Amino acid sequence: MKILILPGDAIGPEITAVTKAALEALDFRFGLGLELVEREIGLAAFKNVGRTMPEDVMEEIRDTPTTILGPVSTMDYPPEAQGADNPSKAIRKGFDLFANIRPSKTRKGVPSMAKSMDLVIVRENTEGFYADRSMFMGNGEFMPTPDLALAVRKITAEGSNRIARAAFELARTRRKKVTAVHKGNVMRVSDGLFMREVRAVAEEFPDVELDDVIVDAMAARLIRHPETFDVVVTTNMFGDILSDEASELSGGLGLGGAINASNERAIAQAAHGSAPDIAGQNKANPTAHVMSAQMLLQWTASRSGDNELTNAAAHLEAAVDSVLADPANHTGDIGGNAGTREFGEALVKAIGE
Ligand code: NAD
Repeated sequence: MKILILPGDAIGPEITAVTKAALEALDFRFGLGLELVEREIGLAAFKNVGRTMPEDVMEEIRDTPTTILGPVSTMDYPPEAQGADNPSKAIRKGFDLFANIRPSKTRKGVPSMAKSMDLVIVRENTEGFYADRSMFMGNGEFMPTPDLALAVRKITAEGSNRIARAAFELARTRRKKVTAVHKGNVMRVSDGLFMREVRAVAEEFPDVELDDVIVDAMAARLIRHPETFDVVVTTNMFGDILSDEASELSGGLGLGGAINASNERAIAQAAHGSAPDIAGQNKANPTAHVMSAQMLLQWTASRSGDNELTNAAAHLEAAVDSVLADPANHTGDIGGNAGTREFGEALVKAIGE
């Protein structure tokens, strides 16, 4: 199985090296026949070929069902017109990866603000308040006069329906509860449409409980009672913000894996950004990137029915858990002194055991 690896910017190459070593160790142990192929994107590709998301890499992604994307420093990119496309946007929109699946859970040995939590945020990924995603042509943010800026938020019945379905299907494999998060008290039309579709999908899943919470109350409830949530479904911007909050509650941004998925393909991509403040210093926590790759293996195995891949994915998570259980392996973001490379060495060892 070919896996395309796109390291991205800033801490991207450092955490990618750990994920690559972990996949090689997993391949050695389980005989998965992985072919890991690395390609340049982001600022390195911009310097070399004038584009942050080169067309030939997009083509290769099209031909490779399994891709791992590193974080990208979009804030530092030149304007899109100069060739600096946001790779996250290009991939999510280009392949219609409508579901961003972001789990957050407390893990043994990892210091966390939450006593205990195990939830998954299912975030709509292709519309909402994202200026570069909401239009067929042009941009959803515009400035009619120098002192007036407007932004368009796009909510569709189809987009809401399919993200709700992804959430209910996931909840069926977990604790059978979906919480829909919205701002329907103010955005009566757009979030009204979102909730209409969530409720319509809920009718097809009588075994799954549905409740709904207004986003500001959700921000508070998540801090007070994170253990009460199972699957949380919401629109693009709310999901982006709440998933960082959930990650922090579980121990930190560097911990939670994530995938962008459609019904046909998934691309691994951690929720955190490129962390330029710690880049090149052997400080980044690679857990979220490794766990994104783990989710990708699990997603692929669940579609193909490949038992060995299922076992390998479970083994990788168990290895991550055993490494995190020992504070000697903790990176600085979770209060330890280990470096990214040392974490990687401990992980490779745990995979072999
Ligand atoms: P960030 O997530 O990169 O960093 C926020 C804080 O969390 C920083 O202090 C950082 O050091 C820390 N952090 C993040 N990941 C970490 C890890 N794995 N290990 C240890 N600490 C970690 O967010 P930001 O600073 O707002 O953005 C930096 C850049 O990343 C910007 O250019 C932004 O546009 C981009 N960004 C990219 C993505 C993505 O690629 N999916 C997502 C968010 C932001």
